[in-house]
Amino acid sequence: MNTEFKVRESYILEITDMGDSGEGIGKVDGFTFFVGGGVIGDTLKVKIKTLKKSYAMAKISEIIEPSVYRQKSDCPHFPECGGCQLRHVSYEAQLLMKHTKVKSTLERIGGFKDVEVQPVLGMDNPYHYRNKCQFPAGEKDGRNIIGFYKRKSHDVQELNACHLQSELADNIVTTIKEWINKFPITIYDEKNHTGLLRHVMLRESDATGEMMVVLVINDTKLPHAKELVDTLTQKFSKIATIVVNQNTKRGNRVLGFDNEILFGDGKITDTIDHLKFEISPLSFFQINNEQTVKLYGKALEYADLQGEEIVYDLYSGIGTISLFLAQKAKHVYGVESIGAAVKDAEQNAIRNDVDNTSFITAKAEDELPKMYAKGIVGDVVVVDPPRKGCEVAVLDTILQMAPKRIVYVSCKASTLARDLKHLCENGPYEIEAVQPVDMFPWTSHVEMVVKLVRRK
Ligand code: SAH
Repeated sequence: MNTEFKVRESYILEITDMGDSGEGIGKVDGFTFFVGGGVIGDTLKVKIKTLKKSYAMAKISEIIEPSVYRQKSDCPHFPECGGCQLRHVSYEAQLLMKHTKVKSTLERIGGFKDVEVQPVLGMDNPYHYRNKCQFPAGEKDGRNIIGFYKRKSHDVQELNACHLQSELADNIVTTIKEWINKFPITIYDEKNHTGLLRHVMLRESDATGEMMVVLVINDTKLPHAKELVDTLTQKFSKIATIVVNQNTKRGNRVLGFDNEILFGDGKITDTIDHLKFEISPLSFFQINNEQTVKLYGKALEYADLQGEEIVYDLYSGIGTISLFLAQKAKHVYGVESIGAAVKDAEQNAIRNDVDNTSFITAKAEDELPKMYAKGIVGDVVVVDPPRKGCEVAVLDTILQMAPKRIVYVSCKASTLARDLKHLCENGPYEIEAVQPVDMFPWTSHVEMVVKLVRRK
């Protein structure tokens, strides 16, 4: 415990950095303070809530001098809702902050001092960008509600509108809310594992505007389904399909594995650039189409394909990046651990008349060494792992293969920096370019694509 500082005492500090969850970070006599709601450039009077050995968590008691980046939140649900962390920061400043975060993480964890990080590719209009949203059902004052989890809890608060999704999505949620209050629909209770309605999920096609409505229930049958389908389809012509998803298991997983289609064919189609994708309730699909085109466009540019290359796309999901790369490669091998995603990838290849891809269901760390042993050597390797990054076996096999270029797509700067360090320290690679892309405006997340080439 630090003895100089005291809980409930007030201190004055300047916010000089921002953390992963959007909290402000500042120092008093070299001691680190994390301040919820603090914005880089603010001078604040704060009160310590929790004191640890090497840092304090503090609350703002007065904004002495607001940062030029501070703005008034335009959302009534901020900061209670856990969806956005940066509604009190101007969009321009969010892009600058994300840039700093990428640069400083590459330096701190990867030891990369002089790499140039391109300015973050932002959105011209950073609103209503989500093509998928899911809301928990709850109860308030004897009424059924649909809303969001209060930050860091499972308390459901009522949602009126969300700026990340379309107005149509807001209106559909409102109509479903009316329906769950008109009919005796019970609400799922996590603690006792009783009650019916757990979540409402909406997916919207950016290309066609078609909507998919999914009601997740803790049973196999939804009562009064006909009334729901009639109301929704009469009111909203864009609803293409309505599905009941059965999730009767305890736990935080939103969707179960079984679906009953109430209306339409259980799917919608969407496009990324010129490629078509079919999306069902469980499909993984990037949630921001406009920025995905920029991200994959960069990955393709960095892969610098001439048409004759053998390419690996590791962690290939439903094959989105593979299909982008296949336009300019001899053959693309996608490796993905989830069988259903691989089936989707194969269908997506057929749907888009792409015949130079193969998809394998396996863990990259198990499969890549085997494929390399069989003589399948990549000229270019693209990886897009989950947040925890790549296993060492993947990185070491890539190093043995010694591709001309490695393209690393990442959603977490720290694991990216760690893996790049491994590749550059243990192999003849150097970073040629780093491009962050803002896939999630108003949140503290940032996506990155990095090009590694052999050292000259
Ligand atoms: N490249 C895809 C998906 C990226 S998300 C896209 O842009 O759409 C990361 C993917 O890695 C997920 O589909 C996840 O199922 C998969 N995955 C997770 N661990 C894996 C592993 N050990 N080996 C292969 N794939 C894995």
